[in-house]
Amino acid sequence: MIEEKFDAIVIGAGMAGNAAAYTMASRGLDVLQLERGEYPGSKNVQGAILYADMLEALIPNFREEAPLERHLIEQRFWMVTDRSHTGMHYRSDDFNEEKANRYTIIRSQFDRWFSREVQAKGAIVISETTVTELVSDAYGKVIGVRTDRRGGTIFADVVVIAEGVNGLLGSRAGLRPAPKPEHVALAVKEMHFLPRETIEARFNLHGDEGVVIEAAGTISKGMTGMGFIYTNKESVSVGMGCLVADFAETGETPYGLLETFKAHPSVAPLLEGSEVKEYAAHLIPEGGYNTIPQLFGDGWVVVGDAAQLNNAIHREGSNLAMTSGRLAGEAIFQVKSRRDPMTKQNLALYKKFLDASFVMKDLKKYKDMPKLLHTQSHNFFLTYPTLVAKAMDNFLRVDGAPKLDKEKASIRAFVKERTLRGLFGDALRLARAWR
Ligand SMILES: Cc1cc2nc3c(=O)[nH]c(=O)nc-3n(C[C@H](O)[C@H](O)[C@H](O)COP(=O)(O)OP(=O)(O)OC[C@H]3O[C@@H](n4cnc5c(N)ncnc54)[C@H](O)[C@@H]3O)c2cc1C
Repeated sequence: MIEEKFDAIVIGAGMAGNAAAYTMASRGLDVLQLERGEYPGSKNVQGAILYADMLEALIPNFREEAPLERHLIEQRFWMVTDRSHTGMHYRSDDFNEEKANRYTIIRSQFDRWFSREVQAKGAIVISETTVTELVSDAYGKVIGVRTDRRGGTIFADVVVIAEGVNGLLGSRAGLRPAPKPEHVALAVKEMHFLPRETIEARFNLHGDEGVVIEAAGTISKGMTGMGFIYTNKESVSVGMGCLVADFAETGETPYGLLETFKAHPSVAPLLEGSEVKEYAAHLIPEGGYNTIPQLFGDGWVVVGDAAQLNNAIHREGSNLAMTSGRLAGEAIFQVKSRRDPMTKQNLALYKKFLDASFVMKDLKKYKDMPKLLHTQSHNFFLTYPTLVAKAMDNFLRVDGAPKLDKEKASIRAFVKERTLRGLFGDALRLARAWR
């Protein structure tokens, strides 16, 4: 194993680690990146939507070479009951722009490409190597890492912890608490393969256009969670995730929920005849702003999912990971170029950059949403979707009853189920948490 001391060691070659390693290596720092998977991306799971702006900030011409699937021109939000969905959807030809804003990707391919870009900038990337321990000096400053390979400590001025949601190293070293079950979702995902023309016909797409469907309602059986369908070129990603605490409390299983979602009358025809080739399960940090741990210290910074930087309300994670990785890399570069030591005080620059970015601003905006959705999950994921579906049925069914009577019946159903006070309370709580 390598004996020399590096400017920086990056743990993990996911979105955050790659962004950090790319930023530092392209500015001439000596970077070692360690990845436990067989290759970068082999262990990574995502829906997956790539948010172009955040990658463009690193690699402006990425569209020329990155393995992209479809650019998204349409988003459907479904509020589902067992037999229906009430939808809101937005489709725009403006999304058919030359530099599209969002793409679907397949992480195992994408991360491999991203890592090649990191290596082309001069970083040393070693896969199949698990960091087992952060190494500190007598004063508690992180000075390197130990791995599961033979050899001693590998030293660096700073260690970038980009180990993803589990964050075992960080919690073992006492840098952050282990995530609580009510703050992480467990998501399962399958890849359903279909001929390209079938996908385009079923989802009303042309060429490389893509669509995303997100569904919440009775499919999560009153738990906080949702299902998703993302179109790739020749496959459709289908998944379902709920909070770990809810699974523990209800005894429901992720796979059971996914089966229910796939069998839903609005979903089954989209997947009919497909061949399932991949199945994956992964955690998502969903505690939001209030669960963000200490982000920097003497000799270390933490980025991406390991830092709980995930916007569950907008289902954004990879963009926050890439941005935090890039900002950490920039802060480290600035400290290094001033020839300052990598102390907690100097690395606070990373937090300053992060606070000024959309990452912290968005997470702060939604700081109360995770708790609200968790504590009110029965109402938001069961009661309201059922009431809305009944109201829609009532509105659309032509049966000779006067429209005014129908409207009154729908309103009565809401009041009966939640009471007037309950309805206003829910609206107020939602509005407060949303602002
Ligand atoms: C089902 C699902 C769907 C999602 N959909 C979307 C989406 O559509 N859009 C979006 O933006 N986000 C999505 N996300 C979230 C997104 O995947 C994450 O936010 C993002 O991957 C975080 O990047 P990261 O680099 O922090 O962590 P990861 O991508 O998880 O990377 C961490 C890396 O560290 C490695 N590692 C861990 N421990 C060690 C160790 N001790 N030593 C060496 N290496 C180690 C891992 O093998 C891994 O490669 C989704 C997540 C899931 C689970």
